[in-house]
Amino acid sequence: MESAPTTDRTFDAYAPLLDDETRREIRDGATAVSDLRVAHVNTTASGGGVAEMLGPLVALSNDLGVDTDWHLMTAPDAFYEVTKAIHNGLQGDGDPLTETMGATYRETVAENAAAFRGDYDVVVLHDPQTLGMADALHERFPETVFVWRCHIDLTDPSPAYLDFFDEDLAAVDHVVVSRDAYATSLPDVGTTVVHPAIDPLTAKNRPLDELTGDDAAAAALDRYPVDPGRPLLLQVSRFDPWKDPLGVVDAYRQVRESVPGVQLAFVGGMPDDDPEGLEVYEAVEAETIDDPDVHLLTNLPDAGVNVMQRVADVVLQKSLREGFALTVSEALWKETPVVGTDVGGIPLQVEDGENGYLVGPEDIDATADRCRRLLEDDALAERLGEQGRETVRRKFLIPRLLADYCDLFERVTD
Ligand code: UDP
Repeated sequence: MESAPTTDRTFDAYAPLLDDETRREIRDGATAVSDLRVAHVNTTASGGGVAEMLGPLVALSNDLGVDTDWHLMTAPDAFYEVTKAIHNGLQGDGDPLTETMGATYRETVAENAAAFRGDYDVVVLHDPQTLGMADALHERFPETVFVWRCHIDLTDPSPAYLDFFDEDLAAVDHVVVSRDAYATSLPDVGTTVVHPAIDPLTAKNRPLDELTGDDAAAAALDRYPVDPGRPLLLQVSRFDPWKDPLGVVDAYRQVRESVPGVQLAFVGGMPDDDPEGLEVYEAVEAETIDDPDVHLLTNLPDAGVNVMQRVADVVLQKSLREGFALTVSEALWKETPVVGTDVGGIPLQVEDGENGYLVGPEDIDATADRCRRLLEDDALAERLGEQGRETVRRKFLIPRLLADYCDLFERVTD
């Protein structure tokens, strides 16, 4: 167990994006829980959506007087192999959960639970990687309220995987999910829906002309192999079967039939806790190696992700299952219309025909059709893009996430 590095953020920096009343409500909400000590626990300080949110969330909480720490589990690679399977199993798919896998998982969570220090009123355990600590932590800290923040889609979990967490779920006081439907399979435990959010002040989301130094250099488009003079489709996602990159390739190939010169880029990182990534990357590479208009860009700096999301004409999010998809809000914030599947958190963000399009997860024809519409009609793309930014401004920025957590902490400690 170690401490995550701190992020430099103040609440005032977000003032221009919030109206007076919202600002006041958020401050009041934080003041109401300023006597609490809070900790968040997850596995990584960078890579993936959870880490994206925790940096600014923890910084803003502290800035508004809610004493908040952020701890990272320490774990060997074998643990992440197992938690990847657990992640898939809880999302409804997956290999059998063997005794060896269970033992690997339990050994690491037991070590981390034993190493956990601190006197907290509320501890938020993020995702299945940390959930296994709940039982042991509850024993050690009976006064603390434990919240499991589940970022994945729990609509239809494989029973063996859910059962594996029986005791831990019994030990948590509350579960937070990204969508109502995700809570239906859970045993009797209080649940709250909290939508994730993006940070508009990061190098990934700031206007390009506000970037300086290395960020400005990383945002220079000539560093990247795409041609800004030709149409560009983009998917930003880990190389993961659930993100269906091969389905994206199929849709792109259909679009190409009527939009000559169209390009496709994948921007995909490889987070430390995602051993499956390389395999999927290689499958996409093998499929597209002969096409000079398909680009696989890995481990871009945040400012590089930013410029790609802005230069793209359409951002795809062709997930088969999806907890939320921060990538959707990131694109909408930049006024880039999104064609996303109607799964998980994507329809929370995309309203069909208003700020993008929703398509069935298996529907390549519809995916290609909506991309084509947007590529062929600039006014439509512009209108949907503008609506997208407004959607995100109202619903999916970090200050709103902070407000939701403060409200939750007030309720669960009552
Ligand atoms: N991301 C990134 N570089 C990449 C791929 C993804 O910075 O090459 C970021 C992406 O911008 C987003 C996060 O990783 O902020 C992914 O979050 P999301 O909720 O979309 O998916 P998850 O990875 O949590 O399933």
